[in-house]
Amino acid sequence: MEHMKRGLSGVKTKNKGINRERLIETFQRLVAIDAPSFQERAMADVLKEELTRLGFSVEEDGAGNHYGGNAGNVYGFRKGTIPGSPILFSTHMDTVEPARGKKALVGADGRITSDGTTVLGADCMSGTAAILEALQEIEEDGGECRDLEVIFFIGEEKHLRGSAVFDYSRVKAKESYILDLTGPVGTAAYQAPTLIQFQIEVKGRAAHAGLSPETGIHAIAIAAKAVVRMELGHVGEDMTVNIGAIHGGEASSNIVPELCHLVGEVRSYSHEQAMEQTRKIEELFKEEAEKAGGSSRMDYQILIRAYRTPEEHPCMGRFRRACESLGLPCTLIKTFGGSDQSNLFQHGISGLVLASAMELVHSCQEYVEIAELVKITELVRFLMQNK
Ligand SMILES: [Zn+2]
Repeated sequence: MEHMKRGLSGVKTKNKGINRERLIETFQRLVAIDAPSFQERAMADVLKEELTRLGFSVEEDGAGNHYGGNAGNVYGFRKGTIPGSPILFSTHMDTVEPARGKKALVGADGRITSDGTTVLGADCMSGTAAILEALQEIEEDGGECRDLEVIFFIGEEKHLRGSAVFDYSRVKAKESYILDLTGPVGTAAYQAPTLIQFQIEVKGRAAHAGLSPETGIHAIAIAAKAVVRMELGHVGEDMTVNIGAIHGGEASSNIVPELCHLVGEVRSYSHEQAMEQTRKIEELFKEEAEKAGGSSRMDYQILIRAYRTPEEHPCMGRFRRACESLGLPCTLIKTFGGSDQSNLFQHGISGLVLASAMELVHSCQEYVEIAELVKITELVRFLMQNK
């Protein structure tokens, strides 16, 4: 087995290939661990053990306590041999439902799937396997690498909850690689939007629908008029707006509905524009409510804040060099989804979200191409070792 070979007197065999079989085994082992959001205990224990074995000093925070979860974020630091500031690699431990009893089945076609009754959990276990395996390979090659930090977050799938409460004062890195994106390996996202989720309550006045409808104020009619006036879908080039759900009135047909509730969202690469659009929607509902003699109230939460990793940041050059060296087509993209990088950026850590050999995520058809899993492991190893 190639991975067992050691060069004579510690000679480094830096460019040997990835141990494909062991990588698949590592991935299968991780997939077999149940880790729905806020139930990451077993996963956290395994990852802490692995990092410790690989020479990291490891800590777990109390993030789970904020959400009634049973595990915290796992952080590890390992001193390297190559001078320079540390770099950070990160994935999340949780997987979306159905997430219990997952199995990673290896097909003859080189594709790994679940048994069809659960997600596979490649989101984010392919990236996690790549990090562990890259570290293992480095260890066997003599340990040449940068100072490394690793964070495995909880609750990413519940709007980045783990990374929202992490204590970033302990992180030394200013450069991060988050393995949490679909697409061919060599793809990386450098920009993500602000995402604002809002709830609107329209208040009218109840009345008997047959005997005295004229004394009522129709909350659903107000909401309907406001929604018709809203711009939905793509609003300009860099923004989307959606109303995702609407509930109004009582169960009975003979009451003029007093209340109507709506939930929606705004996404934009510009935080200011997302805020402006949210205020516009609030005003529009107020206007329609006032016209009819009712009222309207909006609450909103900023789930993620927009970021853009600047072109001159070291991660850009390092990632391009890695792709070139490994013969991967390098594709830098903007994404319209969030990742833990959105939170890292708010704490002064810039980086890229890397495509990490996961496809059709959040579905029972989720799969991994083994060839891609090997590539992302090579890419991670290169980034960890590149000066
Ligand atoms: Zn993910």
